[in-house]
Amino acid sequence: MDENQAVDDTAFSKDHDTASRTICFDIFTLFPPMFAGPFSESILKRALDKSLIQVLLHDIRSYTTDRHHVCDGTPYGGGGGMVMKPEPIVRAVETVLAHPTGWTLPPEAAFVDLPPWDETTPAPLPADVPVILLTPQGRTFDQSVTLELSQHPRLALICGRYEGVDERVRSQLVTDEISIGDFVISGGELAAMVIVDAVTRLLPGALGDALGAHQDSHSAGTDGLLEGPHYTRPHSFRGESVPDVLLSGHHAHVERWRREQSLLRTLERRPELLDTAGEKLSKADRAFLTDRNWNPAYA
Ligand code: SAH
Repeated sequence: MDENQAVDDTAFSKDHDTASRTICFDIFTLFPPMFAGPFSESILKRALDKSLIQVLLHDIRSYTTDRHHVCDGTPYGGGGGMVMKPEPIVRAVETVLAHPTGWTLPPEAAFVDLPPWDETTPAPLPADVPVILLTPQGRTFDQSVTLELSQHPRLALICGRYEGVDERVRSQLVTDEISIGDFVISGGELAAMVIVDAVTRLLPGALGDALGAHQDSHSAGTDGLLEGPHYTRPHSFRGESVPDVLLSGHHAHVERWRREQSLLRTLERRPELLDTAGEKLSKADRAFLTDRNWNPAYA
């Protein structure tokens, strides 16, 4: 937000939730050190420092009891690659979720002194903690899924590796499957980091600027449209100047310009989002778009 932007507190409070809350992410991975970088800088670091979020990294391997700590096996039926075995994952998730939020296995207990676990009978899991498998076969992650996840005080994220996890992890333990897009990456860790980052931005107090996340593309403040362009100093860069309206000091004109830029950008790049916005487009919005040859799926 810059100094020219008017803040309409009434409209803002309607759909922007300001109730303070925190989220604990229990992340199950074979590679906990991968998470160090993204969580030690900037917004995620600040959210951790302010205890807005808790990120607990659970090493799946710690939950193996065999001599070689094996977490993968060759696929039944042949074919290339390895498959993550079900027992260490299920044991890790059931053990952690049986404990209060914030619990991690004491390092000295890994492998040798694990809490008792019944291999034959599923442990009851807390009903309000989604157990999410990261997989390219899941529902596609977007801002509405982000908003949905941000309502839970605790989330479990399971990071797959190799060819993926044994199907019985999915059928017996997992309650939700999320993909970060129609492409395949080497492990669920980067996908989990994307989810933690996106969800954290929505927590009141996570961003320095209270309106920031609200006004983002795909968010309530933009009616799910793309956000328009941003400018900062210098006024002229390589012959291209900042649009005059942004220097006018006229809040209403700035707001209208921003709205029109948002509409224009969405029309050019993601016209289907205009249809999704539907009723949220005002008469003035519709007239502006119609002048630019908008072809709504429904008017
Ligand atoms: N053989 C699998 C892909 C395995 S990729 C298949 O074809 O469906 C290895 C791991 O990376 C997966 O288990 C998953 O945890 C993670 N992964 C890969 N692509 C992902 C995506 N688009 N979204 C979320 N997780 C993904």
